[in-house]
Amino acid sequence: MKIETKVLHSGYKPENGGPGTIPIVQSTTYRFDSCDHVAALFDKPTEFMYSRFANPTCDAVEKKIADLEGGVGCMLTSSGQAASLLSVLNLCCAGDSFIASSSIYGGTINLFGFTLKKLGIECIWVDVDASYEEICKAIKPNTKCIFGETIANPALTVFDFETWAKVAHDNNLPLIVDNTFATPYLCRPFEWGADIVVHSTTKYMDGHAVQGGGCIVDSGNFDWEKAYKATGKFADMVEPDESYHGLRYVGDFGKAAYIVKARTQLMRDFGCYPAAQSAFYLNMGLETLPVRMERYCANARKVAEFFKSSDKIAKVIYPGLPGDKYYERAQKYLPNGTCGVISISIKGGRQAAVRFMDALKLACDEVHVADIRTCVLHPASATHRQLTDEQLVAAGIDGGMVRVSVGLENVDDIIEDLKGGLAAV
Ligand SMILES: *Cc1c(COP(=O)(O)O)cnc(C)c1O
Repeated sequence: MKIETKVLHSGYKPENGGPGTIPIVQSTTYRFDSCDHVAALFDKPTEFMYSRFANPTCDAVEKKIADLEGGVGCMLTSSGQAASLLSVLNLCCAGDSFIASSSIYGGTINLFGFTLKKLGIECIWVDVDASYEEICKAIKPNTKCIFGETIANPALTVFDFETWAKVAHDNNLPLIVDNTFATPYLCRPFEWGADIVVHSTTKYMDGHAVQGGGCIVDSGNFDWEKAYKATGKFADMVEPDESYHGLRYVGDFGKAAYIVKARTQLMRDFGCYPAAQSAFYLNMGLETLPVRMERYCANARKVAEFFKSSDKIAKVIYPGLPGDKYYERAQKYLPNGTCGVISISIKGGRQAAVRFMDALKLACDEVHVADIRTCVLHPASATHRQLTDEQLVAAGIDGGMVRVSVGLENVDDIIEDLKGGLAAV
């Protein structure tokens, strides 16, 4: 089936006479009729036990997302940050390193560069446009995985899947990709060689700004046993898990080894699992994802062209616009569009940007992106506030930069509002 059908029918099949939509199972517990039954679950987790790490409502949504991405399994998390964290912790421990593209979400940069460092895990940063040889050079004997982002928030760089996937696989390393901005509607990273996908479902997948969440999806394609034999890495994917009665992830769960391990070890221990109610809302967003994404892209394309035609704007960054640095790469990996987010740089710097922002009436100034409503953010005074003007330049952000997340209002109304903003500059 195509994705428009999958978003409505995957993951949940109503029984004869059963509820037509995914029911909210608001229960922390599941009842069993014997001690032996419960004991068996502690030998091999095959049924719901406790809602800290699995729940039927969440499970239906997990199955749907796995199907949308083309993976063998998915685990929801309580935020996108939790998904990024667990995706790496499932492979790295103290003393290990991993490689990340330098162009990724700011929250992930803090997580990888500061917090994981305190846990003894080193993140090695490599330029997003590095060559095959340059990326290979950064790999160390203790490197366990590679991390990138399809369309980076907020830099809007487009990830060169083929180069990074080749480096990863030539070196027996799995490739993890944050696919938040693209969503499985615009790009399915597994088709380009990624092994693991993470999302902040808070953004387009939920789409309505009603709940935060994230997920990890496993392609099932990475051969852990082969990599273990070749390099000695990923022993805990293959050898018995002493924290779980000698469970063997590859031996007992085959292609789903990574995602089962993420749940049985990490979600069991950290417990950052969403509530059933949150998964229910997420599912409502997913059901309309294809129609929404199509409209986001169409609106953003028109808004990007409008910005391009204004003499008050120094720079428009939108990979869907011909002439953008990443246009050709976007045509290859994201032929159906590059989401609704545009970065612009207003002539006149910080003051001009603030005047523009404050004069907007429809677009909201909010710390969010990929909302259903058009919203704007001024990185220099908000998300990147701690940086000096020199540091801002180094990070590719100038005082006049505004991130515009184009919503689903009528595009003429959006452009009218933006015109009003620019008139105040
Ligand atoms: C927002 C975001 C995250 C973090 O997700 P939260 O749900 O806010 O924790 C991760 N990656 C990208 C690309 C994001 O935009």
